[in-house]
Amino acid sequence: MSDMLDLIADYIGVKKGLSVNNPANGQHITTVKDWQEDEVDRAIVAAAEAFKTWSGQTAKDRARILQRWFQLIMEHQEGLARIATMECGKPLTESRGEVAYGAGFVEWFAEEGKRTYGDVIPAHAAGKHILTLKQPIGVISAITPWNFPIAMITRKIAPALAAGCAAIVKPAEATPLSALALMVLAKKAGVPEDVLTVVTTTDPVTIGKILTTHPIIRKVSFTGSTAVGKILMQQAASTVKKTSMELGGNAPFIVFDDADIEAAVDGAMASKFRNAGQTCVCTNRFFIQDGIYDEFLRLFTAKVAALKVGPGKDAATRIGPLINEAAMQKVAKIVSDTIAAGADLHLGGIRHPAGDNFYAPTILTNVTMDMPAANMEIFGPIAPIIRFKNEDEVIAAANDTPYGLAAYFYARDLGRVWRVAEALEYGMVGINEGILSTEVAPFGGIKQSGIGREGASCGIDEYMEIKYCLMGSG
Ligand code: ADP
Repeated sequence: MSDMLDLIADYIGVKKGLSVNNPANGQHITTVKDWQEDEVDRAIVAAAEAFKTWSGQTAKDRARILQRWFQLIMEHQEGLARIATMECGKPLTESRGEVAYGAGFVEWFAEEGKRTYGDVIPAHAAGKHILTLKQPIGVISAITPWNFPIAMITRKIAPALAAGCAAIVKPAEATPLSALALMVLAKKAGVPEDVLTVVTTTDPVTIGKILTTHPIIRKVSFTGSTAVGKILMQQAASTVKKTSMELGGNAPFIVFDDADIEAAVDGAMASKFRNAGQTCVCTNRFFIQDGIYDEFLRLFTAKVAALKVGPGKDAATRIGPLINEAAMQKVAKIVSDTIAAGADLHLGGIRHPAGDNFYAPTILTNVTMDMPAANMEIFGPIAPIIRFKNEDEVIAAANDTPYGLAAYFYARDLGRVWRVAEALEYGMVGINEGILSTEVAPFGGIKQSGIGREGASCGIDEYMEIKYCLMGSG
């Protein structure tokens, strides 16, 4: 067994359970526990007990522990990155970046936990006083995806723990090892037993149901597909739980005639091909204005053709595998259906010889909004390109989707920059930037891309309740 798994040796290598495989070569890595319903129920009850003590500590005490957790994560940056690459496939440089990004939430919320101020409000009548307190919501559950196996956990758990909540995390079936490694480091840092429990399972439907309906759980935080998010919201409705939903996207990337074309091409590469296109903020549709279309396509094509495809562990790799065969088939079908609908294959369009789960970086041109590549979430290294003439037309097309997570545009005319930024119906807009995630800014979507925000000073409010106290003069 490889050295980097030593950290989680106590939690892996079980005889029967959830099998973890490397998407780059299909090899079995190890097997982890398959939690049963009664065990999850006991963990929730234990979390409720642990919550009493944890929430009773000062924010400063919790901050010290979270700061140690941050330091331990960064000390283990390389090992964690290797685990993430091994189970989710992304290039090692991206995994190292993800560890630092994920750790950033722990550092940020360690501090924010100390600033969950209430208010003293001038009262509505003489002799009365109005105060508000912010209090931790209780035991929360977090259900996370495989594409950021580290950061999607810290983005939820760091604010939850900083607020004083206890948490049960269910990572994706494909990536339980990163989650277990984070939990081990949290315990080393001093997070008490039962304040943080990672529940690994082969049966997300059954375990997900417990995590969204158990009366002790007070809040559900989910990152994943819109389809699953809707199911979880329905389940959470049965006991009126607070929910945060980070769901799918259909990000437009618009390049106007007045843009810095080279900067736009760099931004396009970053926003499209990170994690082989498997992020919810990855560009899904490129809109390029008439006047610079040919130049953009020429420069973009040269860069896409040069992308090195291979296993994430190789230093030169920029595009790793897709997560599994089902993802591969979905991407291949979007490409073939889009071509059948009239688009042109400009580059790629084939499985890549690097291995079973590898798809060649692909560019489709002459794409229109009614084609699958423009209206389905692709989650693969496919760039559909749409040519447009004017601002009104492109804003209407960009907003013509049930999603509203991230959007990007490149322009230099100041009037246009404001107009377009305001007109795009998205929770996040990158203006002359292709990557916008950071722990200091609010991440989240509108429309069917979700509810709530993660990161920033508002990220901790998702795990707190406001209590209003009216005090009379008695
Ligand atoms: P993706 O397409 O990124 O895999 P999913 O929404 O299918 O997105 O998965 C995200 C997370 O949701 C994973 O942890 C997965 O196990 C979990 N999940 C999937 N289906 C359900 C369900 N019915 N109930 C609870 N969790 C689920």
